[in-house]
Amino acid sequence: MANPSLLILAGDGIGPEVMNEVKRIIGWFGDKRDLNFDVSEDLVGGAAYDAHGVPLHDDTMAKAQEVDAVLLGAVGGPKYDNLDFSVKPERGLLRLRKEMDLFANLRPAQCFDALADFSSLKKDIVAGLDIMIVRELTSGVYFGEPRGIHMEDNMRVGINTQRYTEAEIERVARAAFDLARKRGNKVCSMEKANVMESGILWRDVVTEVHQADYADVELSHLYADNGAMQLVRAPKQFDVILTDNLFGDILSDCAAMLTGSLGMLPSASLGLPMANGRPKAMYEPVHGSAPDITGQAKANPIACILSFAMALRYSFDQGAEADRLEAAIEKVLADGARTADLMGPEDGTPLSTTQMGDVILAALDASV
Ligand code: NAD
Repeated sequence: MANPSLLILAGDGIGPEVMNEVKRIIGWFGDKRDLNFDVSEDLVGGAAYDAHGVPLHDDTMAKAQEVDAVLLGAVGGPKYDNLDFSVKPERGLLRLRKEMDLFANLRPAQCFDALADFSSLKKDIVAGLDIMIVRELTSGVYFGEPRGIHMEDNMRVGINTQRYTEAEIERVARAAFDLARKRGNKVCSMEKANVMESGILWRDVVTEVHQADYADVELSHLYADNGAMQLVRAPKQFDVILTDNLFGDILSDCAAMLTGSLGMLPSASLGLPMANGRPKAMYEPVHGSAPDITGQAKANPIACILSFAMALRYSFDQGAEADRLEAAIEKVLADGARTADLMGPEDGTPLSTTQMGDVILAALDASV
């Protein structure tokens, strides 16, 4: 059988720096676990704009459609801030998400015990936290028509439309239920059915999908505002949270902060299954290109490495190897390995990006 294929789009700023460490980890799995990937690389964001005048070349888009999974670093930076909206680095990312139809955005919020002190919440509320937010990514109020700003009675009026079809709700609900079965078997769906018709439809469709095919999974519903409150009051009550694009945007950022640093947060965006059964997929850290630390060897590579662990689990059915990689990260953190973002100014000398890669590779070596 051919090796599974990966397209690496490292992007801008610290993207290539953290992706270098991921490439070493990918190499390790080939050498030590006989898990080989056909890896190709290309440009996205500002790097693609510099080379081609567009933030994503058509050839790169075509490659992304063909591979088993895309790994993305980060895009953007001050150099590109004044570009026309149509060629801004972020447009490259949006094009990938849209054309690959990546409708389910998975954002785990996991608190490593060694970092529980970094949370803005009390240690006992977050230690051991492991929740997954499944956010609908390709529809809802960010895409609905009509939209725009126009004049009415001599006044400007701004309009956006929250719109969901049953099919859009059903497919993301299925993704959440499937995931829950591989985790704690619980889904909490969040909307505003008390004040929004689209929320009523959301709740109805999620309930129907549950009754038809996922009755073994525990399902609950919360209004999204109450959900936000519960997320900071007692986050460990949740396993999988299912929500729409707008609420998911806010709730996932809120959940992210429960765990401390941006440098620790991975994500996956999944679409429909391809002919080989694997979902269309893109894996990327939640953080951006961090221009303030670019080129200083300070970036924490863990978010990007954890994104690759998600690829092992969700694209390549290698759950045990994903566990191995996550355990290696947990071990080095427990042993005190810290990049600068995980330290206070008085805490000694931080590890560089590459040194963090080194200790994770050593922990992987010790695991076999
Ligand atoms: P950012 O995530 O790049 O940085 C926010 C802060 O977190 C900075 O202080 C940065 O140094 C720190 N940080 C981020 N990742 C880190 C890591 N791995 N290790 C250590 N510290 C880390 O967000 P920003 O500063 O608002 O945006 C910078 C650029 O990135 C902008 O051009 C923005 O548009 C872009 N951006 C891209 C993405 C993406 O590619 N998915 C996401 C967010 C922002």
